[in-house]
Amino acid sequence: MLVVISGFSGAGKGTLMKRLMAEYGDHYALSVSATTRAPRPGETDGKDYFFVDKTRFQEMIDRDELLEYARYVDNYYGTPRSYVEEQMKNGRDVILEIEIQGAMRIKGQYPEAVLIFVTPPSAKELKRRLTDRGTESEEVIRKRMNRAADEAIGVEAYDYILINDSIERSTDLLHKAIQIQHMRVSQRLQFLYEINKELRTLE
Ligand code: 5GP
Repeated sequence: MLVVISGFSGAGKGTLMKRLMAEYGDHYALSVSATTRAPRPGETDGKDYFFVDKTRFQEMIDRDELLEYARYVDNYYGTPRSYVEEQMKNGRDVILEIEIQGAMRIKGQYPEAVLIFVTPPSAKELKRRLTDRGTESEEVIRKRMNRAADEAIGVEAYDYILINDSIERSTDLLHKAIQIQHMRVSQRLQFLYEINKELRTLE
């Protein structure tokens, strides 16, 4: 199953993803995106992102190596196709932490994907988190706040909204929400087919 996590910049998605993987890492494969953005202090190439230049990013687009991509506040971000397809073939839930345009493209390609939107409790809290992070200039913070206002309009297209007021609670809720998707009848058609067959042979 594909799980798309989006949210306003500063909603705490990064921390939430780290915590989800630390606690429930056996269940999930986390996709690592390619980006033309410069690494922030502490970010590692190949772990947080594949940091590439614009030429390489364009090459990835031309070779159809990206499942989706989007421009976000002066930079490009995209999901490498091969990892996602490989993990899904192996039956793992793949998590994509991507912005809203990418999310809509994934929903178009994979209608069964689950879309979850993470938000802080208030706009004030969002600004505080972006400022406290101390990694972006005032100009970039302003652009990210504007982008958040634009994205808020598209949230109706998501399946769930997760208000991130406590990281422990949000991690648990996120894991539960994903697991519950596996109870959908549409996800269990093979099981139903098998049990049906068995019921007939036991008659
Ligand atoms: P940041 O620069 O804060 O790491 O990420 C900026 C935004 O880009 C976030 O909303 C993040 O979810 C999104 N993003 C990261 N990777 C991808 C990707 O592969 N595709 C798309 N469409 N968005 C991404």
